[in-house]
Amino acid sequence: MKADPDKCIACKRCFPYCPMGRIQSFRRHERIPGRFYIQIDQEACTDCGLCLRAAICPVNALYQQQEQWPREVRGILSNPLIEFKGSQVPGRGTEEMKTNDVKGTFMPGEVGVGVELGRPGIGAYFRDVEIVAMALMGANIGYVMAEENPVTHFMENKNIGKLRDDVLGEKATSAIIEGKCKLEKLPEAIKALEEAAKRVDTVFTVEVITKVTPEGEVPTKAILEKLGIFYSINTKNNLGLGEPSFKFYPDRN
Ligand code: SF4
Ligand code: SF4
Repeated sequence: MKADPDKCIACKRCFPYCPMGRIQSFRRHERIPGRFYIQIDQEACTDCGLCLRAAICPVNALYQQQEQWPREVRGILSNPLIEFKGSQVPGRGTEEMKTNDVKGTFMPGEVGVGVELGRPGIGAYFRDVEIVAMALMGANIGYVMAEENPVTHFMENKNIGKLRDDVLGEKATSAIIEGKCKLEKLPEAIKALEEAAKRVDTVFTVEVITKVTPEGEVPTKAILEKLGIFYSINTKNNLGLGEPSFKFYPDRN
């Protein structure tokens, strides 16, 4: 995102809308005496588009140019209105975590493990995303990356979680690694993530996705409690509007 020096009047109205914080600096206009404009720190800006969508600039100075590779990955991950062609869904991840009841991505005995790196104010560089992805793959727990996730598409070798070198210096407001493994491998996945957390220069949260049994049991709960991991349970429920073409428990009616 940039501000046009010939339009911007440095009114600061766009400042509070930026999730990356105070990344604008004031510049004196070279040709118009007494006139100031703002310059957006291009390294800190994730091209999320929030300032532009807020439509608060009184002189329409903000503009988003068409970014080239690899810079364009910032907008793909950070601007929810930019659709990633791989998943056909705007935003950072796939819909698999939210639609398990109708898609059956995570079957009984499996656990989805998603890692959400970065938060407003700090963001996440892809070099840190790579550290976490390689930690999961290096744990040899049979972790399989989600195919349609943008981060997976930015990998040159998804079998080891290695990202393309040219995206490592790019950043997003947040990025999600998605995949799954067998339920019994969850403790090893958590251990690998705890080790990786010591080496990344950002924050991350871990999403553990599982199918609740017909008896109402959450299969991951006992595992997380045994590990002493703080967890918060959230659910995505199929209210009957989506008709699954499979059965979670084929031997039951
Ligand atoms: S595009 Fe997003 S990160 Fe960049 S200046 Fe605007 S609000 Fe801030
Ligand atoms: S709202 Fe527009 S004029 Fe005001 S500081 Fe931001 S870009 Fe400049």
